[in-house]
Amino acid sequence: MKAVRFHQHGGVEVLRYEDAPDPEPRPGEVLVRVRACALNHLDLWTRRGLPHVKIPMPHISGSDVAGEVVAAVGSDVAAGARVMLQAGVSCGRCPACLRGVDNECPQYEVLGYRNHPGGYAEFVNVPLQNLVPIPDHIDFVDAAAFPLTFVTAWHMLVTKARIQRNEDVLILAAGSGVGQAAIQIALLHGARVFATAGSDDKLERARAMGAFAAIHHHKQDIADEIKRLTNKRGVDVVIEHVGEATWAKCMRSLARGGRLVTCGATSGAKGTLDLAALFSKQLTVYGSYMGTKADLMDAAQYFFSGQFKPVVDRTYPLAEAAAAQQQLEASGQFGKVVLLP
Ligand code: ZN
Repeated sequence: MKAVRFHQHGGVEVLRYEDAPDPEPRPGEVLVRVRACALNHLDLWTRRGLPHVKIPMPHISGSDVAGEVVAAVGSDVAAGARVMLQAGVSCGRCPACLRGVDNECPQYEVLGYRNHPGGYAEFVNVPLQNLVPIPDHIDFVDAAAFPLTFVTAWHMLVTKARIQRNEDVLILAAGSGVGQAAIQIALLHGARVFATAGSDDKLERARAMGAFAAIHHHKQDIADEIKRLTNKRGVDVVIEHVGEATWAKCMRSLARGGRLVTCGATSGAKGTLDLAALFSKQLTVYGSYMGTKADLMDAAQYFFSGQFKPVVDRTYPLAEAAAAQQQLEASGQFGKVVLLP
């Protein structure tokens, strides 16, 4: 098959569009023909290389996949079935998996990250339980753009922060995949959304999606703006994934009893915590990693019924994966960038 692989860590120039062996499904696994694969920041980190993480080479990235089932060994899943894939691969047998918190499984790993080759290819192999059938009216590009960002944002807002009607939510980086998913999920739950973005165009698009207010995170002080917009009260929930650059301002934006949930640190992982503020304002900080299959299935209902719509910035042919990653690296997107094999 054709695939985009890298044989060493580095810049986008290490990505090679080349022939790779067809994946061979083992018992319990399914071979899926990839119709669309969405990019995530994880793909960039994997390509550049992470300290303490050994990536087997050559490597195929790609965690967000939609396509058609080719063959399922020892199962009754029909060939040709249209599916999207749950990105988290777990053992299915340990106490965490059996309790339904499969993202706490010791073997939990994301497709395309380390030991499970991903969707920058014509075919991908996944465990049977990772299939999520999609209805005919959902196209493959939207289906590929949906899983990882929506499962992540759902886990943060619903499972961790337990978002309530009429609460105020601050969502960082509305132009990111997680940001645009979080806006839709917060609005579905009747929350009032404050979003940040780094350009006037993205601020406008955040407002168009239903944000009550949009804050320019390069030109304005997030915490000052939140205090001004909420009559000094602050917000009930912050959805954070930027890290170092915004952490302190996000903590300062919280109202009494507020909850901050973080799922990433794209700008750096160091942040300080004002312990006096933490206890006196009774704040809660949640770490959140991807999401469970139950989160994905809960969110998918609203996707299939048309209430959630993943925002797709643009598509590229698989062979142009390097250009696609370059766009993500430059934060030049609003929503998802999707590869088409
Ligand atoms: Zn497990």
